[in-house]
Amino acid sequence: MAEAGQSFLGASPHACSRCGGLADEGSFVTYNAKAYCPSCARFHRLELRPSRWAILSLVLVGLGALCALVPLVPAGVLLACRELQRIDAGQAPLKGRPYADVARVLGLVLIAGFVLAAIAVVAMSWD
Ligand SMILES: [Zn+2]
Repeated sequence: MAEAGQSFLGASPHACSRCGGLADEGSFVTYNAKAYCPSCARFHRLELRPSRWAILSLVLVGLGALCALVPLVPAGVLLACRELQRIDAGQAPLKGRPYADVARVLGLVLIAGFVLAAIAVVAMSWD
């Protein structure tokens, strides 16, 4: 009976959060409160730190915002979008996703702000 309980406990929380596959508890890699089977952990390069591209995208958007270097912001957003595609394709470490996510959202908000500010300036100069 203890075995049945163990296999139940072992099976449901230890299904891989990417492919749904089951594996031994010890072989799972957890990241961000999610468990990944060994092959998905390899796919997501969970042993690796965020890529420099993910970090660079956030740095570009941040510098663009802090130093009013407007062209850096769309460059950072494009870099973040490319990095998110690479992460989804398993070509870049999953740990870069928070950086690229923040860079993309922050960058898009900043771009929207620039556009609104530009429209306001044009509208005020009209009369
Ligand atoms: Zn998996």
